[in-house]
Amino acid sequence: MSEGPPHFEKLQRCPVCSGTGFSSYRKRTFDISTLSEDNIKITDSDYGKIWDLDLCETCTHVFANPIPSPAFIQSLYAKTEDPDYEEESLGRGKNFQRILNALEKIHPEKGRLLDVGAATGILMHLAREKGWVTEGVEPSSWAVEVAKKKYDLTLMEGNLETVTLKSNTYTAVTLVDFIEHVSHPNEALSKIRETLKPGGTVCLVTPDIQSLAARAMGKGWWHFRPGHLAYFTKKSLLTLLERSGFQVIKWRRYAWTFSAHYLLSRMSLFKFLVKNPRMAFFWKNIPIKLALRDSYEVYARKENSA
Ligand SMILES: [Zn+2]
Repeated sequence: MSEGPPHFEKLQRCPVCSGTGFSSYRKRTFDISTLSEDNIKITDSDYGKIWDLDLCETCTHVFANPIPSPAFIQSLYAKTEDPDYEEESLGRGKNFQRILNALEKIHPEKGRLLDVGAATGILMHLAREKGWVTEGVEPSSWAVEVAKKKYDLTLMEGNLETVTLKSNTYTAVTLVDFIEHVSHPNEALSKIRETLKPGGTVCLVTPDIQSLAARAMGKGWWHFRPGHLAYFTKKSLLTLLERSGFQVIKWRRYAWTFSAHYLLSRMSLFKFLVKNPRMAFFWKNIPIKLALRDSYEVYARKENSA
C-alpha cells in the first residue's frame, strides 16, 4: 500500500479543452483505501475498476474527477513490479515494430527517440537496433533495473512531470499507453512539444472509449482500470493535439499482439488451459494479433509556428 491517503483535486475545467460544461459519466466502482501498486500494473487483469468519471460536453473527453494527485499516482508507479509484462516481450515487440516502421517512413534520417513510460525498454531496444539513439523515462524502479540488466539501457527514473528534458532535441517521442495515465494531458503534451525538434513527431497510442469493443464490453471493458485517469475519443484526442501545437499526419487503429497465454489467462472460461506450466510455456510462444480496434495510434508533427 502507498503511504498516507491519496490527495484529490476537483477539476473545474476539462483537462483537454478547458470547457466548463461537464456531467457525471460514471461513478467510482472501487474502494480507494484498497488501492495498491498491483492495481496499476500494465498487466493487471482486474478490469472494471474506475474513478468517478466526468464527460466533457464540448470535446467528449472522459476524465477522473476529482483526480488523484500526480504525487499519489507516482508513489504507486515507483513501486510497481510487473514480471508478466516482460514475459510478453514477444507480442509487445511486434506492436512496437509496427510503430517503428511507421516512424521510419516519416523520418528515414532517424535521430534521437524518447520513449515516455518506457517500462522495461522493449521499444527502446528495438529502436536502437534500427539505428535510433534512444532515451526513456520510467517511474518503476523495477522496470528501470530490468531494462539495464536485459538490454543494457539506462532509463531516466521518474515521471514526465518531474524529469528535465532538453529543448529541441528529439526527432520522435513515443507515448504508448501513456497519456491516459496522466492527470494534466495538456501540460504533458506541451512538454513533449518543447523537447521535440521542429518538424519532429509524437506517436501516441491510447484507448478509444467510443470504440465498438468499449461499447460492447460496457463496464467490463479491459481499459477500465484504476491506472487510467482519462479516456479519449477521436474528438478529444484531436483537440488535445491541436491545442498543444501539433498537426496530425497519420491516424489508425492499433492492433495488439498478445501471446495465446496472455489472452487465455484473462478469460475465466479458459484459465484452466494455462494452469499447467508446460502448457503455459506452449501458449506463451503463440503470438495472436488481435484486431480489437479499441485503441488509436496517432502520429502528429510539431508545428513550427509557436
Ligand atoms: Zn473538453
